Amino acid sequence: MASIELRNIRKSFGAVNVIKGVDLEVRKGEFMVFVGPSGCGKSTLLRLISGLEDITSGEMLFDGKVVNALTPSKRGIAMVFQSYALYPHMTVYENMAFGLKLEKGHSKDEIRQRVEKAADMLQIRQYLDRLPKQLSGGQRQRVAIGRAITRDPKVFLFDEPLSNLDAALRVATRIEIAKLHESMDNVTMIYVTHDQVEAMTLADRICVLRDGLVEQVGTPMELYEKPDSIFVAGFIGSPK
Ligand code: ADP
Ligand code: MG
Repeated sequence: MASIELRNIRKSFGAVNVIKGVDLEVRKGEFMVFVGPSGCGKSTLLRLISGLEDITSGEMLFDGKVVNALTPSKRGIAMVFQSYALYPHMTVYENMAFGLKLEKGHSKDEIRQRVEKAADMLQIRQYLDRLPKQLSGGQRQRVAIGRAITRDPKVFLFDEPLSNLDAALRVATRIEIAKLHESMDNVTMIYVTHDQVEAMTLADRICVLRDGLVEQVGTPMELYEKPDSIFVAGFIGSPK
């Protein structure tokens, strides 16, 4: 069954149509990467899937159920942004526990266990008592990812999570994200990037977006060997 199904999704801001009728199925457990030029609607599409933004028309289904009217917290989704957006006055532990505390119904022990487990996965356990400003950029982004993991989501959405990191950290964190996906059964990831290498190495399938529409969806190999258009070839095949 599809984890996420988008049926003729449209989004306008005032008179401006940004998403123009997107049909897409993301499979359970799949690592789907969105690529496309700046301004083509990648971030908007992620925000629609997360529920942070309302769709103008169309239907969105998770596990076969329509979620159009569900608030972000009811969708079982966690989102990681380019800027880590940690709370500066809270420790790493408090940042990671905050969402769980808001959800209510989790005991202190359970929260501690979930935070420590996520911190171990990302090798940030030794930083739990620090403030964000005492961490490097790469460590902060791990905290942001760890914060998402503690919520135990079925779907992770990443919006260019590595673009603020330097080259070496980008590679290290990319490998960490790939491991994370492998280690969690049936967790679906949708990942936006403008980095060709990230797309080719992380993706089960790549969705190429162009001006608010899906241009082509396929495995990295399919897009590389049989691009439907010069536009796709330009994104996948040619060096940057
Ligand atoms: P991408 O992430 O692919 O670079 P975005 O989804 O951020 O693209 O933006 C797609 C288009 O939608 C852009 O032209 C942008 O200006 C417009 N847009 C995005 N959010 C808003 C908004 N809240 N109000 C008006 N226009 C917006
Ligand atoms: Mg964007």
